[in-house]
Amino acid sequence: MMTPLCYTGCALDRAAQRRSDDAWLAERLCDPESRFVPLWQDRNLIVPGDAPSAVSVAGAELPPGACSEQQAVFLGLENGGRAWFSVDLSEHAKGDLTILGDGAKFISLRRVGPLMDHAAGSLLAYTLGICFWHRRHRFCGVCGAPTENRHGGHLRVCTRAECGAEHFPRTDPAVIMLVTRSGAEGDACLLGRQARWPKGMMSTLAGFVEPGESLEETVVREVEEESGIRVVNVRYMGSQPWPFPSSLMLGFRAEAPPGAVLDFDADELDDARWFTRAEIRDPQSVGLIMPGADSIARRLIETWVDEGE
Ligand SMILES: [Zn+2]
Repeated sequence: MMTPLCYTGCALDRAAQRRSDDAWLAERLCDPESRFVPLWQDRNLIVPGDAPSAVSVAGAELPPGACSEQQAVFLGLENGGRAWFSVDLSEHAKGDLTILGDGAKFISLRRVGPLMDHAAGSLLAYTLGICFWHRRHRFCGVCGAPTENRHGGHLRVCTRAECGAEHFPRTDPAVIMLVTRSGAEGDACLLGRQARWPKGMMSTLAGFVEPGESLEETVVREVEEESGIRVVNVRYMGSQPWPFPSSLMLGFRAEAPPGAVLDFDADELDDARWFTRAEIRDPQSVGLIMPGADSIARRLIETWVDEGE
C-alpha cells in the first residue's frame, strides 16, 4: 500500500446519520457558525500562492437564497460540531461573487491541488465531486421529471409521485495500473501517452470498469487492449478520489510475462514504451514528462522506482 494520496484525508466527520434530520439541517443552514465551501463552474474558491488555501464563508456572505436546502449539500461536522456545507454558485454571474474571500479566486483544483495540504485538497475534491453529480442529476433517469435534493444533498428523489425513484451520488470506478517487467530483459515499467497530452508526457495505463467486470479483469483487459500484453499478478495498491469530473481511481501493479511483446493500439495510444528506473529518475534525459504530482499515476511510478537500486 502507498502512503496517503492527494485528495484523501478530509478532516470532516461525514455524520451520515444526521442527513435525514430535516429540522436539524435547516437549523445548521441558518447557524452563523456553519461554514460554506463555494463552487463556481467546477472551480473552487482558493487563495493562490506557494501554499494555496481553501476558502469557506459564512452563510450571510453568500448571495441571497444560496444556502437553501435545495442548493447546499451537507458535507459533515468539524471536530467540535460546526457544520460544513458545499454550495454551487454556478448560476450566479462571476462578477457578483468577487466579495467572497479576501484575495481568493475561483480556480481549477487540478492547477493547485499538488501544492495544497491534503485535508484542504480533499475537502475541495469532495465539494467538486458532489456538486458535479447534482448538476448532472437534476432530472430523473427513469421518467425524466425534475428531481429534488434530500438527505442534505446525499440523495435526489424524483418529484413525480407515481415514479419517486431515488438517485444516490455516484462515482465512476476506473483502474489505473503500472505494468512492470523484470528478468533477463532488465527491470522496466510501461508508460503510454494519449495524443492530446503535452509533448513528452507519458503515464500509466488506465481505463473504466465496465458492467459485469471485476477490477482485476478490467486491468487485464485494458492493458491487453492498449498494449497487446496479457498481464499476470494483478495487485491492488491503493485508491484516490479523482473528481475530474467523477472518478474513483483504483491503483494496481501488474506484471508482463517473460518475453511479452509490446504492440500498442494506435487508436488508443499515441505511443507506449518501457522505461528503466534510471530513466525515470532523470526524465529529462529521455524527454519524459511525468504525470502530475497530485496523481496516483505518479505515485505508482515513484513507488516502483523506490523499490529498485
Ligand atoms: Zn422519475
